[in-house]
Parts: sequence; structure tokens; C-alpha cells
Amino acid sequence: MTEKNIFVKLNFILSALEIHQLPEDIGLEVALCGRSNSGKSSVLNALANNKSLARTSKTPGRTQSLNIFSFSNDNLRRLIDLPGYGFAKVSKKDRKNWGILINNYLNKRISLRGLVLIMDIRHPLKDSDLTLLNWCEETNTSVLILLNKSDKISKNQSTNSRNTTLEALKHLKININAVVFSAKNHQGIDFLKKYLIDCLDVEGSPNALG
Ligand code: GDP
Repeated sequence: MTEKNIFVKLNFILSALEIHQLPEDIGLEVALCGRSNSGKSSVLNALANNKSLARTSKTPGRTQSLNIFSFSNDNLRRLIDLPGYGFAKVSKKDRKNWGILINNYLNKRISLRGLVLIMDIRHPLKDSDLTLLNWCEETNTSVLILLNKSDKISKNQSTNSRNTTLEALKHLKININAVVFSAKNHQGIDFLKKYLIDCLDVEGSPNALG
């Protein structure tokens, strides 16, 4: 990437527990999703080069909310951190509310342009990931898969995991790609930035974020 890192301008805006608390549905958004512990917060922090950016999504009471980030000079382009799925300790009632919230967001949000799905490269494509990917196909939403924590396995194992993942998804008729990623050593981060820049149409912006 030759341009400045526009993602350092990401700021936390608000947490929403209900759809009506979200910013007005205008502009462009990309949602980050994944099982809890897949490294969603670490990916956000790596992107912004800011170790405390995603701290808010770990605040008790906010782990079940949608956390909204936007750029300091452009609040019409946003990243939405969806609550991680696969919590062991969540009550049935909370799980149901969580499902309703995510469903409402994914199905109704006009600004949503793409999804970044984060998975542990050692355990990709769990049921909940497949549910999301099927939803992407139904709604024709593009998706970039980050096979995160690649620093924990060898290069060969990483390549195999990517190949197996893409092979398992080749029946999906959507724009889908998978990248070997590490929030720890930033492997694959340029690919993620490029995807976000494309989805958020940053270069086409009259008041370009850079
Ligand atoms: P979240 O629950 O999906 O937001 O996951 P976190 O970002 O909190 O990460 C969960 C755990 O995985 C933490 O201990 C992180 O330090 C660790 N982690 C996240 N990304 C990576 C990575 O790329 N490499 C390694 N080695 N650990 C990671």
C-alpha cells in the first residue's frame, strides 16, 4: 500500500444494543464478525495500529452489542464490530436477543457493503461461520475471510488451510476470498485494507479520507 494508513483515523462511536440505536442508515459500512476468541478485537487494533481501539467491545455489557467505529473525518464510512458468536456463558434469553439483533442488522441495513469473517486458521468453518456464509449468499453480500492466527502454524499448514477452506466454499455463488492472516505479525493486513477501501469506496470519495 502506498497511501497513508487511513485506518489510524478509526474512532469508536457508540455501542448499540438495539437497531434503532445505530447511526442513521446512510453511507457505507463493513461488518466484522466471527466467533468469540477468533481475534476480532485484535484485527481491529492491528488495522488501526492502536492496541486499545477495540477495548470497548470487551467492556462488560458491551460484548453483546454492535460496536460502531468510523473515521474521524468521515462518519459516513463505518466499521461495525458485530458481537462474537459462540459464547459459552450466555443465557438462552441473551442468545435469542443476540440472534435477533444480528439478524435485524444483516437483513435490514442498507449501508452494509461487505463482511469480514474472522476465523481461527486452525479451526475454520464452524457451524456458526457457515450460517453466516449462507446468509451472505442469500443476500449477495461479498465476504473476505481472515484465517487468523497464522503465526501459530507453519506456512505449509496455512496454505493448506486456505485451500481447504476455499474448496469447501466453492459452491457459494458470491464474491468470496480467504486470506492467511495474523493480527499479531500483520500478515495479510494489506489485503484486508484493500478490501475495506474497495467496499467503503474510499478512493472514490470527494473528501478522500487520506
Ligand atoms: P475476540 O474475542 O474475537 O475479540 O478475540 P481477541 O482479539 O480478544 O483475541 C482472543 C485471543 O487470541 C487473545 O489472547 C489474543 O491475543 C489472541 N490472538 C488474536 N489474534 C491473534 C493472532 O493473530 N496471533 C496470535 N498468536 N494470537 C492472537
